Amino acid sequence: MDFMMSMVRIMVIFYMVRMIFSAFSRRKNGRAEVEKEKDAAHINRVTEEQQEKTAIETVYDKVCDVYLPKDKAYQVVEQEGTQYFCSWDCRQQYIHQKN
Ligand SMILES: [Zn+2]
Repeated sequence: MDFMMSMVRIMVIFYMVRMIFSAFSRRKNGRAEVEKEKDAAHINRVTEEQQEKTAIETVYDKVCDVYLPKDKAYQVVEQEGTQYFCSWDCRQQYIHQKN
């Protein structure tokens, strides 16, 4: 009878330890999931930012052979289309070359 009682006690302790460990590891996994979600959200934000960047139109400055964002470019509007330049000097140079 004593042997049975000690066996039961060992079993109970074993299950308790197992429960504590599983609860602990579940909490750890839960936290890992949250971290993963945060990472995913971060990645989404980064790709959105990249998409916004690539969405910015680049234009070609044929005077000094350079590509630049359209919103930073100097322009000359012509019949054939708008010409873009990286600087006022390039714009002037183009105009002088044409005339
Ligand atoms: Zn230029």
